[in-house]
Amino acid sequence: MAVQPKVLHYINGQFVEGAAGAYFDNINPFTNGTINQIAEGRKEDIDAAVRAAKEAFDHGPWRTMPVERRLRYLFRIADLIEQYADDIAYLEALDTGIPISQAKKQAARAAENFRFYAEMVKTRLVGEAYHVNGQFLNYTVYKPVGVAGLITPWNTPFMLETWKVAPALATGNTVVLKPAEWSPLTANKLAEIIDEAGLPRGVFNVVHGFGETAGAALVAHPDVRLISFTGETTTGMEIIRNSAATLKKTSMELGGKSPLIVFADADLERALDAAVWGVFSLNGERCTANSRLLLEQSIYDEFVARLKERVDRIVIGDPMAPATELGPLIHRAHWERVNRYIDIAKQEGADVYAPSVPTGLEKGNFVPPTLLLGCHNGMRVAQEEIFGPVMAVMSFADEEEAIRLANDVKYGLAAYVWTNDMKRGHRVAQAIESGMAWVNSPNVRDLRIPFGGTKYSGIGREGGHYSFDFYTEVQVVHVAVGDPPIPSFGKAKPPSAL
Ligand code: NAD
Repeated sequence: MAVQPKVLHYINGQFVEGAAGAYFDNINPFTNGTINQIAEGRKEDIDAAVRAAKEAFDHGPWRTMPVERRLRYLFRIADLIEQYADDIAYLEALDTGIPISQAKKQAARAAENFRFYAEMVKTRLVGEAYHVNGQFLNYTVYKPVGVAGLITPWNTPFMLETWKVAPALATGNTVVLKPAEWSPLTANKLAEIIDEAGLPRGVFNVVHGFGETAGAALVAHPDVRLISFTGETTTGMEIIRNSAATLKKTSMELGGKSPLIVFADADLERALDAAVWGVFSLNGERCTANSRLLLEQSIYDEFVARLKERVDRIVIGDPMAPATELGPLIHRAHWERVNRYIDIAKQEGADVYAPSVPTGLEKGNFVPPTLLLGCHNGMRVAQEEIFGPVMAVMSFADEEEAIRLANDVKYGLAAYVWTNDMKRGHRVAQAIESGMAWVNSPNVRDLRIPFGGTKYSGIGREGGHYSFDFYTEVQVVHVAVGDPPIPSFGKAKPPSAL
């Protein structure tokens, strides 16, 4: 598949150059060569996109058209995503280094995002009525919020973009998407698909560029009414600060350092499968990765031995090869950061175990699947998000210690508990401070279920009805059906003589 030499912004239904005419290089993580040039959005481009989105929101047909008609566009987008699934998977693998077999699954899920939210909105976008005391009819009206600013990260970018774009559009908002600068290709493909689906001009806009410029301008813009953000915790904090001046509605899906706890009575083979897949698939660049493995002392040695054996068998290679399980990390700067953490682990006394990267892959940003053995919670590598194929492994003596270690981090996104004692499974899952917990299960997500984190992993939930609530404003209208008494006011004195 040929890749366009230049990727442009998509503003008001047209692919356009940036106002400043600036471009930046998009780098291939497998070769570190340049893939193509990406338009570098600045404040003027954000202003143009927000202007288009506001005009489409205020005066266009999008918000006011019958919902069934609006949703037909979403079903059309889903069909087109499926039609172009191979292209999307190719672009994602090229741009991010995610193995193609895994990128294909992400493309399929992205189509599902559009179908799911279209279906949901059909039944949710009706108000409720309350008849109160025979005196009042109160009813609710669900309205779109306005111009939605969506800011997304570079890991599984297409899936995460559609996870926000679909509910935002389904509920009648108009959108300005600022995709991550390291993974712009599939956001551009989404713009092409939405263009082909024929959405009214200005309803969906994409501005490429850097966070500190394009992203910050979107956050500061007074006509943007909400920001849905997925990315690093420190970026989320800055966005909350910067959006305060215009009091935006915000949703924050941030970093994680999620524990996977294995008790001695668990199905160890399944726990092993889940642990390996959960941290090494998607190149370990997964917010809900089980980057901490907590093993009950009595099984530590056996489990680690099996883990090493499994890690040795992971297929490292070209992300385009169908058999590849682990590809290169997104960017050289990120590769350096992950390697720095592996050095820190050594300095902190961890026993680092990793197979070597096969020869011939030297140009790519490869980090082998890496186990940091013998960790304890005082280590930086057990506390900080590394966001690569690296797992900190430690042991615990009993349930109480497992819970204490699991909670002794600033993050609270996901947790995984493996035990055959179901009472304990529920007990431990509920004792962990995380937005989500799985018991005897890998990370399987249903779109109806709330998704998000607690502590430093985020604020708010998206998914299912939670996305609906975030992307809508509810208004209540009170209508008197009888003649309810009106408190006497200004009637105390007799009327003055004229
Ligand atoms: P990042 O925070 O560096 O960037 C995310 C996006 O924010 C990018 O589009 C970037 O350009 C933009 N941005 C950066 N600074 C900004 C600013 N000052 N104002 C506005 N926008 C700004 O994150 P990343 O490195 O792209 O992504 C990896 C992080 O995302 C990890 O921490 C990971 O855990 C997290 N993540 C969380 C979830 C979740 O659902 N909780 C899902 C995926 C990724």
